[in-house]
Amino acid sequence: MKNSNLKSYKIVTFGCQMNARDSEKLAGVLEEKGYTEATDEDTADIVIFNTCTVRENANQKLYGHIGQLKKSYLTNRNKIIGICGCMMQEKDEVEKIVEKYPQVKLIFGTHNIDEFGFLIEEAIGSNKKVIRVYDKSNNVEKTLPTKRVFGFKCGINIMFGCNNFCTYCIVPYVRGRERSRDVDSIVKEIKSSINDGVVEVMLLGQNVNSYKGIASQSYKFKNNYDVTFPELLNEVAKIDGLKRVRFMTSHPKDLSDDLIDVIKNNSNICRHIHLPVQSGSNSILKAMNRHYDRDSYLRVIDKIRSNIEDVGITTDIIVGFPGETENDFEDTLKLINQVSYDAVFTFEYSKRTGTKAAEMDNQVPEDVVKERFKKLLKVVEENSGKNVERYVGKVMDVLVESEDKISGKLTGRLSNNYLVHFNGSQNLIGKIINVKLVKGCKFYFEGEALL
Ligand code: SF4
Repeated sequence: MKNSNLKSYKIVTFGCQMNARDSEKLAGVLEEKGYTEATDEDTADIVIFNTCTVRENANQKLYGHIGQLKKSYLTNRNKIIGICGCMMQEKDEVEKIVEKYPQVKLIFGTHNIDEFGFLIEEAIGSNKKVIRVYDKSNNVEKTLPTKRVFGFKCGINIMFGCNNFCTYCIVPYVRGRERSRDVDSIVKEIKSSINDGVVEVMLLGQNVNSYKGIASQSYKFKNNYDVTFPELLNEVAKIDGLKRVRFMTSHPKDLSDDLIDVIKNNSNICRHIHLPVQSGSNSILKAMNRHYDRDSYLRVIDKIRSNIEDVGITTDIIVGFPGETENDFEDTLKLINQVSYDAVFTFEYSKRTGTKAAEMDNQVPEDVVKERFKKLLKVVEENSGKNVERYVGKVMDVLVESEDKISGKLTGRLSNNYLVHFNGSQNLIGKIINVKLVKGCKFYFEGEALL
């Protein structure tokens, strides 16, 4: 049921790649129903906020957005404002929205995304708020229509949820336990995206290395009821027309030798591994419940580097976790120097209500966290660019992704995830071309397209 007064939509996404992928599905459902994308939240008839709750201040950000929409809601009472995503799995937040934000008409959780098509119709056709939030789900989501942000690359969910319960993280509570999609549906979705012009897919999951899916008898795995991530990746790499495949995120405790072999043996699997270490201190890793220690992590890094040529390794670091001493922090800095990452994503620890770490009584004072964060940035900065020189002069494959409006240069991505800027015409966007890397800067290269 499309209300003829409602014509346009806007989806506002917060958070991770999984949310970005979910937003493509929400957009796909709305487009299939005949709505078109509006330029902004104010002019859109339907606005959906896809929320993140990993950091507490993300919640405040959402409330700011909803508050700003009040004016446009008052001039267009038919406007539908909906909220979904991880934050809606938190009962207190839902109660707060119901009580304080009458303009919000639709609320649904991470386990209800399949029902979005029905929920939006219910919200349009009713005077009441529509709220659908399941606590948990054993289902893996159906394939929904998709409106891709990029025509040439896309994310493909291979699993949902997480079983790891890192003590600082809310994800297992809001996304539920791990559920893996079956191999057949993943392969079917990738083939259909290739037919639509996609050349690069990113396999998505909170911890892709613990994927365990089933496959029909048309596949000859060792055990079709227990297909592992390396087996899945190997199968995906064989799909005709798939030029590149990436994956995100890997947990260091589960990254196997088999996976390294599969990457090594398939040239279309991108040479990039994001391997979040979070801390270089064994006692902090234990308190974080990460299930690996510094030495075992470094062994994995060694294996990756000695087996996969030109690999890019990136990581996440949290500084100021409860109980972190100066020595623990120094261990993290030493690890960064030792590994020489290609990029490091840095985070100040911030208390997340609902997690075990938030209850710990040895929280690090804010000023200490800030001071350490500054030092961390300095070390990251000193280390950046260490690996780029060895690529200068090489000719490498680049997927051309965009054109910079100001410089007019094209930006592309190497298999190992480094960016390259070079001159070229806009019609190269979406193509994989050879580029000579002429200059290495800290996080990117300047290059020359060889056409
Ligand atoms: S692996 Fe840890 S950090 Fe990642 S989603 Fe699961 S609980 Fe959160």
